[in-house]
Amino acid sequence: MRPAHPSFPPGAARSEDRVTMGVSLPILALELPGQQYSCHACGDCCRDFTVQLRDEDIERLDRQGWASELGGAPWVEFRGSRFLRQRPDGACIFLQDDGLCRIHARHGLQHKPVACRSFPLSVMPTADGPQQGLNFACRSVQRNLGAPLGTHLPDLRRIAEDAPETIGQARVVALLPGRPGSPLELRALAGVLDQWMGRDGLPIATRIDGLAWIAQALRHAKLASVKDDRFLELITTIIATLEGELEADPVVPATERQERMLRQAIFMRTEDPRLDRMKSDGFLRTAWRQWRRQRAFLKGSGTVPELRGFASGVRFQTAELIPNPLHDAAEGHDEPIDDLVSRWVRARLRGARTWGAGYYGFSAVEGLSALCVDVASAAYLARVHAAGRDASADRVMLADMAAAVARIDRTAGRAPWLATSGERLRLSYLALDDGLRRTCALHACGVEWT
Ligand code: SF4
Repeated sequence: MRPAHPSFPPGAARSEDRVTMGVSLPILALELPGQQYSCHACGDCCRDFTVQLRDEDIERLDRQGWASELGGAPWVEFRGSRFLRQRPDGACIFLQDDGLCRIHARHGLQHKPVACRSFPLSVMPTADGPQQGLNFACRSVQRNLGAPLGTHLPDLRRIAEDAPETIGQARVVALLPGRPGSPLELRALAGVLDQWMGRDGLPIATRIDGLAWIAQALRHAKLASVKDDRFLELITTIIATLEGELEADPVVPATERQERMLRQAIFMRTEDPRLDRMKSDGFLRTAWRQWRRQRAFLKGSGTVPELRGFASGVRFQTAELIPNPLHDAAEGHDEPIDDLVSRWVRARLRGARTWGAGYYGFSAVEGLSALCVDVASAAYLARVHAAGRDASADRVMLADMAAAVARIDRTAGRAPWLATSGERLRLSYLALDDGLRRTCALHACGVEWT
C-alpha cells in the first residue's frame, strides 16, 4: 500500500490479528515472522506495472477530470480491458518526479485505483477466509523495511469495503487436477511446506530442492483415497524423511531440453507488454517481436533479449558462467540471498499466492511446480543481471537476486499468459525426469557437469 508519506504509522498489530469486515469476514494476517513493509515512495511499481482498472476506478478517474490536463483520458482500452495510461518510457502517467502519485497528491489515497492502493499487499479468497498476501516486486518488501504486516490490515479492510469483489467467494481448489483438496489438506500442505522453508539450519539450495522434490512426488502420487488426516500423515512423513531422501538421490545436471524449457518459462515470466507500443505497432508487428524474443530464449545463444530496466546486451553464455546464486549462498557466501529467497517463497505459500485464486485457480501441485519454476527462473535471471552490471562478475550479489525476484514476482498470478493450458503442460513436462529439481540447480557449483 502506498501511504501519502513514506513513514507509515505502525499500529499495534499481532500476527493473529483479524479485521472484521462489514459482512463479518475476517482478513487473515500473513504469518511471515519478522517480515515488514511500508512504502518508501521509490516509484518502482509505478514504473514497472501495467495497471488494470475496474469500472469504478474509471468512473472515479473520469470524475477527477484529468482529460484536459493530460490531453486525453488517463486510461487506455486494450483487448476489452482498460488500463492506466503510460508515459512513453512505460511509467504511469500519474507518476511525479518526486516518486509520488499525482492522484494521491491531489485527491488522497482513497481516490486511487484499487490495484494501486493495495500493492504490494493483496487479499485472496481462501476456504479459511480472505488472506493477506505480499508481492516481492516491492523494494521495501525485499529489504524488509517498515511496519509489521498486520498494521496494514485496516487499509486492506477499507479497500475490501470499497471493492468487495476483490475478496470474492472462495472456490474449491484441487490438490491435483481432478482431485479436489479439502481446506484441511490445503492448509496442512501450505503449513508443512512453510515449516520446511523456515528451516534456517538447512542451506537454501536444499530447501528449494526439497520443495521441487515434493512437487514432483505429489504430482505422481495416487491421492484418490488418501484424504484429510491420512493426507496430513503422508505429507508430515514426507517432510520428516525429506533430508535423507535428498541425500540419497542427489540432483544431477539438467538435460538440454530441460534447460530450454526453463528459458521458455523465463520468456513467459518476463514478457513486458507496453500497451502504447502494442497499440501503435498493431497485432502483426507485436506478434513478430514476441516470436523473435521467444526464439532467442529457446536457442539460449547470442544476446539475451532486452529486459526493460534490467539488463541489456548480456550474452547467454556469459550469464551462464556465473554460478547459481542459490548454491553459491549455500556455501555460506551470501546469507542475505538465502534470507530473501526464503521470505519470498514463504510469502507465496502463506499468502495464498501459490495455488487457487491467487494463482490462476491452479491446483496445489501445479501451483507448487510453478513456484519452483519461478525460483529457478529468478536464479537464472539473477546471473543475467550480474553479467549486465559487471561483464567480469563471477558471482551474483544480493542486488542481482533482488532484481530477479522482483521481475518474476511481478507477473506471478497476474499475467494471463501464465494461466494457459500450454503453461500447465510445460509444468508437467518439467516435473518429469526430476526436471524441477534439475532446473532449480541449473549451473550450480558442486554439481558435476558432463
Ligand atoms: S515499489 Fe514498494 S516502496 Fe516503491 S513505491 Fe511501490 S509500494 Fe512503495
